[in-house]
Amino acid sequence: MPELPDVELYVDALRRRLVPRDATDAIDGDARPAVLERVRLASPFLLRTVTPPLSVTHGRTVTCVRRLGKRVVIGLGQLDDAPLYLVIHLMIAGRLQWKKKDAPVPGRIGLAMFDFATGSAGSADVSAKSAGSAADVSTQSAGSAADVSTQSAGSAADVSTQSAGSAADVGRGSLAFTEASKKKRAKLHVVHGDEALDEHDPGGAEPLSIDVPSFAALLRAENHTIKRTLTDPRVLSGIGNAYSDEILFAAKLPPHRWTTKLTDTEVARLHAAMQSTLVAWRDRLIAETGDEWPDKVTAFRPEMAVHGKYGQPCPVCTSPVQRIAYADHETNYCATCQNEGQLLADRGLSRLLKGDWPKTLDQLEELKRERRR
Ligand SMILES: [Zn+2]
Repeated sequence: MPELPDVELYVDALRRRLVPRDATDAIDGDARPAVLERVRLASPFLLRTVTPPLSVTHGRTVTCVRRLGKRVVIGLGQLDDAPLYLVIHLMIAGRLQWKKKDAPVPGRIGLAMFDFATGSAGSADVSAKSAGSAADVSTQSAGSAADVSTQSAGSAADVSTQSAGSAADVGRGSLAFTEASKKKRAKLHVVHGDEALDEHDPGGAEPLSIDVPSFAALLRAENHTIKRTLTDPRVLSGIGNAYSDEILFAAKLPPHRWTTKLTDTEVARLHAAMQSTLVAWRDRLIAETGDEWPDKVTAFRPEMAVHGKYGQPCPVCTSPVQRIAYADHETNYCATCQNEGQLLADRGLSRLLKGDWPKTLDQLEELKRERRR
């Protein structure tokens, strides 16, 4: 499931295309916010709201793009004196792709297409459209030529393609909402008014702005494992299985420690690890992507320390990364760095070993050696 750094990455990529930062002080008027021409629904189950109808979003100028928990919110100005929003909830397998304007809905995985046009004022509309289609063709041919030369010449072609894409072409393109899963869980809502938008907020605190005392109070309000509390959207916003593994590793705390058992020092360490991990990943993903579209939004990244690294050496102490397996995911941790070398019980492995559960890494190694003999 896309988490805070991933959703921020989508938000940044959308802002670059839909609400350029220089839009308000653009002298030549090139960088105007985009206009949502229409939404094409490919899946009848995607839209979860009835009123207002989706058609009220058509022809509206994009006024903001932001994150709400693990959702992407596109602001579309005011309707009857209240703001209008599209709320995109990616759930687990939902992803966004930026396509050529009016491109067909991607087969099988496509849920919807949002067609955006370059925003323009008044009578400029018509000329923008005809200029737009001409520019489209040239962008494409320039694009494919640049593609070829990118392979050989590299960054020079890249830069020219990007600057064309981020200035005059702002807003012209289609956003594809896809879901590569048989279980269709992704959702789209048309939301009218800020109170209605609040209903989509699970209510968790923002991990990047919460201070240590408030964080401590949240952790100690109920007694759960730290792993569960970090990933509870009603407690903290935007943290899921992947980044909680990385945060707990950075904090040198075991995932199953009870929140009420944490000392003040440990709470402060967890708070610092949470903020530094999320900020580092958000900034890294945005910097790596630049003006490109983030095509590879995944919970598994090679630079991660422990998440998805079961059996691989811990980057700090080199002992093998451990796991606790659940029905559809697993928690990864380093027993040496996070739990003084003690292994945490894994239900799957416990059953396999029939209760003969090794307590330490040494015992586990010994057991493996015995089984090999
Ligand atoms: Zn380690």
